[in-house]
Amino acid sequence: MADQLIRATAADHGIRAVGVITTRLTDVARQRHQLSYVATAALGRTMTAGLLLASNMKQPQSRVNIRVKGNGPLADILVDAGLDGTVRGYVYNPVVELPPKPNGKLDVGGAVGRDGFLYVARDIGYGYPYSSTVELVSGEIGDDVTHYLVTSEQTPSALVLGVFVDASGVTAAGGFLIQVMPKAARDEALVAKLESRIGPLQGFTPLLQAGKTLPDIFADLLGDLGLEIFPQRQMVRFQCSCSFERVLGALKLLGETELQDMILKDNGAEATCEFCGQVYQTNRHQLEQLIVDLRAETAASQ
Ligand code: ZN
Repeated sequence: MADQLIRATAADHGIRAVGVITTRLTDVARQRHQLSYVATAALGRTMTAGLLLASNMKQPQSRVNIRVKGNGPLADILVDAGLDGTVRGYVYNPVVELPPKPNGKLDVGGAVGRDGFLYVARDIGYGYPYSSTVELVSGEIGDDVTHYLVTSEQTPSALVLGVFVDASGVTAAGGFLIQVMPKAARDEALVAKLESRIGPLQGFTPLLQAGKTLPDIFADLLGDLGLEIFPQRQMVRFQCSCSFERVLGALKLLGETELQDMILKDNGAEATCEFCGQVYQTNRHQLEQLIVDLRAETAASQ
């Protein structure tokens, strides 16, 4: 199944569901950042959560930023996901590897750390992010983002995330988010029914590995509750907004002295985008042009 996101409702719009397949884009991130297995799982889960959170925003340019700052060896995870289906992200220490847990699963909680914070910032396109912070629950990402949804957004939510990676790369990744709207949340029988179905699930990737599609998964969970799957399927992908022009803009901010220094010492400059790993080379002439621009701006402002 190609990377894609689908939306659904049930219980007379009392339940909102969104599911996403992120197998391909997680593998792109793994290759770009040369991630270890556990780092692949941690970043893949966080990127999946970012896409799911962004999916219920309204303005076309809306984006969600997630930062996971735990006390484990991976250090920070940063993810930037958009309503447009693009996502990018990175891990501070991508090479950290830990032995799997006794159940055979990757020890994401151990790598992230169980103490720390989850920051979520929402930008609806005007550059004024709404942000909130919650303490980490387990460092497994899914539990932590669920805790954020329940405490910060006060919406009963079930979030299931998963990444399966082995020597051949990422072969299954994705997740789903099911939220109960306030009116439906008062229906205790409905909430209990949902809990009894979602609680026993052994993660997301076993469902994909059993050959289930997102519509199959929703049908299993919500099929008898008036499920309505929206026909539009949105493609999702790893994509960064960096560009050579932005790199030049960032270099210019360093100022003339620093630029002169780069020309003298290195005859140019090399910059790597943290989010996607793209390397940008600038030569002496481009740096000299930046200095010319800076001088012209200074003269114009006087
Ligand atoms: Zn980039």
